[in-house]
Amino acid sequence: MSGSAPGETVLRQDHTTSWAMSTFRVVQGTLILTPTTLRFVAGRFQGIAEALRGTAGEQVTIPLATVTRVEKGFMAIVKVQADREYDFRGMSDASGWVAAIDQARAAARQPAQTYAPPPAYAPPPTYSPPPAAAPAARRFCTACGAPAAPQARFCGGCGAPIS
Ligand SMILES: [Zn+2]
Repeated sequence: MSGSAPGETVLRQDHTTSWAMSTFRVVQGTLILTPTTLRFVAGRFQGIAEALRGTAGEQVTIPLATVTRVEKGFMAIVKVQADREYDFRGMSDASGWVAAIDQARAAARQPAQTYAPPPAYAPPPTYSPPPAAAPAARRFCTACGAPAAPQARFCGGCGAPIS
């Protein structure tokens, strides 16, 4: 079981990671880095105690946006500070992981920096009067030459019928 979801972009994963949930509880599993999250999926049971607790298959997902610090600890330990501190041990390439997580965090922040919010104030659309009658539609009295209103039946000037 790889622990990654179908169609998910996996930047890096390590099947031999141990997560030290607490001083007395270390669970072995897979650490998976995606463009937006760092996820640990518990692997095989570590013993009857873990089996009773039912940790296999359990997972913790750490959104990279919540990660405030990543550092390489003593030996092969990667410490991730997010909503709490996560200690991942037995990493085959702890330094590489720290770099990869930092890189993913930087990439995840990128869209936020280039995002330009819309202007707070949008002026209402200006009122534009309906277009004046096209010159071709303008009519004139054939008797006196005065301009005639579009719908006029008689000339306003001389009273002659407008055709
Ligand atoms: Zn007229």
